[in-house]
Amino acid sequence: MNVADSRTVETVLLDAGFHLTESLGEADVILVNTCAVRESAEERALGQLASLSRLKTETPTKIIGVLGCIPQEMKDELVRRLPFLDLVVGPDEYRQLPYLIEERLAAAPGQPAHVAARLNRHELYDDIVPHHTGGITAFVTITRGCDKFCSFCVVPYVRGRERSRPLTSIIAEVEQLVAKGAREVMLLGQNVDAYRWEGQSFADCLEAVAAVEGLQRVRFLTSHPQDIHLRIFEVMRENRKVCPYLHLPVQSGCDRILEQMNRGYTRERYLEIIESAREIAPDLALSTDIIVGFPSETEREFEETLDLARCVRFDSAFMFKYSERPHTKAAGMTDDVSETEKIRRLETLIALQKQISQKQNLAQIGRVDEVLIEGVSPKNALQWFGRTPDFRPVVFSQNGEVPGQVVRVKLGELSGFTFLGHLA
Ligand code: SAM
Ligand code: SF4
Repeated sequence: MNVADSRTVETVLLDAGFHLTESLGEADVILVNTCAVRESAEERALGQLASLSRLKTETPTKIIGVLGCIPQEMKDELVRRLPFLDLVVGPDEYRQLPYLIEERLAAAPGQPAHVAARLNRHELYDDIVPHHTGGITAFVTITRGCDKFCSFCVVPYVRGRERSRPLTSIIAEVEQLVAKGAREVMLLGQNVDAYRWEGQSFADCLEAVAAVEGLQRVRFLTSHPQDIHLRIFEVMRENRKVCPYLHLPVQSGCDRILEQMNRGYTRERYLEIIESAREIAPDLALSTDIIVGFPSETEREFEETLDLARCVRFDSAFMFKYSERPHTKAAGMTDDVSETEKIRRLETLIALQKQISQKQNLAQIGRVDEVLIEGVSPKNALQWFGRTPDFRPVVFSQNGEVPGQVVRVKLGELSGFTFLGHLA
């Protein structure tokens, strides 16, 4: 989502006459887009920002700005901790960037940072079609914000209320991306299943996007167990362009913790959804997000999460140790699982999931499937890199194909989680 947001910022600035450079030394303006969802992401961003102070000292006219969720979450602290910053801009204020930068360029160096971090429930950036498509695969944001208020999560506080983009503007953007060479789009939102626009649901949106001529594949991220509808799986089964891959965060396998997290479903309900999904769309690959060490989580409760991972056999999972986030309800709970214990639980879960993912992958060897070529393999210039519809990475020898082409490939041995394929 932040990559998609960075492309929106790029476009706003390119349209205003700015140019992009990859070199920090050459740049007149440096903007760092940030994520506040976990403490580790926040620390990395703050560390990177602090390292820019040397550039500012060397060239005081350089404009240094911080964008995204951290400005929204802690604007005053940012200004205090990093006094060399020029701009502190929240996620709903990007349209203002050209003016803020011009204003700053015209001002004498050494002024206090300009802070623009007001949330705007109407901001969808739906008229801004990114210049840079990202190649064969493009991101398209369809909802912004979130109203779920899971007790651990800072998103509703830093991204504001949930709102859906008009379907007409989504389709117009996808058409333009396809005209620029994109063949796959990833529809993005904190909870895409909550998409609603003039009586149209997320399933309608999927079908409409899939109908865009020239587009080969549609993916989406993220789904929420509270809002997901079985029709999504029917669309997946019936429409070849809609990829059979579902990212459905479970967070915990224990009912008491799920309730404390305010997730709005039980373990049983989650398992029911998975069962129906696999019944309707048997080729479906599944991934999830899991948090370990949520306040008051006992060893037995953690084991329920391990058990759920064994039951479901996720193809992959993103696993995190709980970190307290400001403003959230869980920040008022005692963060009583020690850091050592959180790390132990996380390592135990990762080791288990690695075994499960490997087993799931080994079962695919020998299968022939369609691979969309995304580009040259980063590790071998004579090989292509692509993915199966269920998101498995594959490399295979080049033989006159071009990126964007869909070819039939037989999946061979694995190197880590990537398959070595052979044209079928
Ligand atoms: N909207 C998605 C959902 O409902 O699952 C996920 C959004 S969140 C940006 C991505 C993931 O970060 C979450 O699924 C959760 O596993 C993790 N996460 C969020 N807050 C966290 C926290 N305070 N500590 C650890 N992990 C967290
Ligand atoms: Fe955060 Fe929950 Fe919203 Fe996901 S659904 S963004 S975890 S509040």
